[in-house]
Amino acid sequence: MVKAIVGANWGDEGKGKVTDTLAADADVVVRFQGGANAGHTIKNEYGKFALHTCPSGVFSKGVVNVIGNGVALNIPILMKELEEIVSRGVPMPDIRISDRVQIVMPYHILFDECEEERLKGAAFGSTKSGIAPFYSDKYAKIGIQVSELFDEHYLKDKLYNICALKNPMLQHLYHREPLNPDALFLTCMQYREMVKPYITDTAAFLSEAIKEGKTILLEGQLGTMKDPDHGIYPMVTSSSTLAAYGAIGAGIPPYEITQIIAVSKAYSSAVGAGAFVSEILDEEEAEELRRRGGDGGEYGATTGRPRRVGWYDCVASRYGCALQGATDVAFTVLDVLGYLDEIPVCVGYEVDGEITRDFPTTRRLERAKPVFERLPGWKSDIRGIRSYEELPANCRGYIEFIEGQLGYPITYVSNGPDRKAMIYRKDRVK
Ligand code: GDP
Repeated sequence: MVKAIVGANWGDEGKGKVTDTLAADADVVVRFQGGANAGHTIKNEYGKFALHTCPSGVFSKGVVNVIGNGVALNIPILMKELEEIVSRGVPMPDIRISDRVQIVMPYHILFDECEEERLKGAAFGSTKSGIAPFYSDKYAKIGIQVSELFDEHYLKDKLYNICALKNPMLQHLYHREPLNPDALFLTCMQYREMVKPYITDTAAFLSEAIKEGKTILLEGQLGTMKDPDHGIYPMVTSSSTLAAYGAIGAGIPPYEITQIIAVSKAYSSAVGAGAFVSEILDEEEAEELRRRGGDGGEYGATTGRPRRVGWYDCVASRYGCALQGATDVAFTVLDVLGYLDEIPVCVGYEVDGEITRDFPTTRRLERAKPVFERLPGWKSDIRGIRSYEELPANCRGYIEFIEGQLGYPITYVSNGPDRKAMIYRKDRVK
């Protein structure tokens, strides 16, 4: 059975923790899109880890971790991450890298930096991981597939062509030194040695795993609002963040994905620029939630920069779940809200004098104002509670109100960063 674990919002919803928890019963965990531009924070018996490239199954014994063809693979970062987790006592995970995955090259990162510098104040707030230049090259058909590292003549020709295309821009627009194709070739040869032991026809491997009835988790990065088609374009990422893309980015039939768990945090957070309707505008109020949020505050796992925070947004989340095709919702980081007397929840948007519950396109979204309803808080610490019935009545009220607004079942409730802090609503778990 294939399950997708994906973000219903802007990312940082706690997908890593949900995957890490569910990986205990899984055979395979697959990354299918994105690169080292976002991070999952995972806390378990080995300690606290920020993963950027490794699938979250790396901590679970017997799990095969697949880097699917849809990923933007930064080879040195993957190697560094593997080294780090092993040096901290985690057994060397079983890693398979798709022979069709493409490589993030140093010049992708350079172009990302140059472009952010050129845009200055109007920049996208890129993490400068080279993701947009990488996917641009992939679709312009000048990307480098891992399999091509083994065909030296072909690769050399390709690198000369890439430099011929990129150097005029680098020299004349960005005023930087030109790329040297021979130096890039040597870099590619180093990359080849690093990835060689892990390269697999992962589509064939997954097809076999499906036939054998294995449990496979597809692990999404970021969330619906960052999808290039359905998100807040252009403040989006460059690969699809939707469960549907899991089929493409992993190389499996779409109908095999039978469970789609949309992860949604009990309040909102976003990084970078872009419309954020339910944002808390009072800086003191925002800082309080930011400080208490997540595990150790709402600060980016990759960049360390403070995240923007807001109240739960039912309009964005319902849309987020719909586009993911959620069969289940995992409602996370609920424990953080225990300090509030009242909790505002955004139930609608006012756009040009009209109230709507539908998520608008970006230009209209930028004019949207939130319509809030206030729910009573539960004023207690819910960490450590393991059954739904033991949650305070107001806390259950909050969950059920939001579930009603979403129209999707909240099956999992996460009340702490730890792997065990997960309440299953048994009446809902399929
Ligand atoms: P991801 O990219 O969706 O995996 O999210 P991040 O890892 O960037 O952010 C989620 C943060 O919330 C991490 O610091 C997690 O350790 C933390 N976290 C996840 N679930 C919970 C929870 O239920 N309660 C608390 N307090 N923190 C959580």
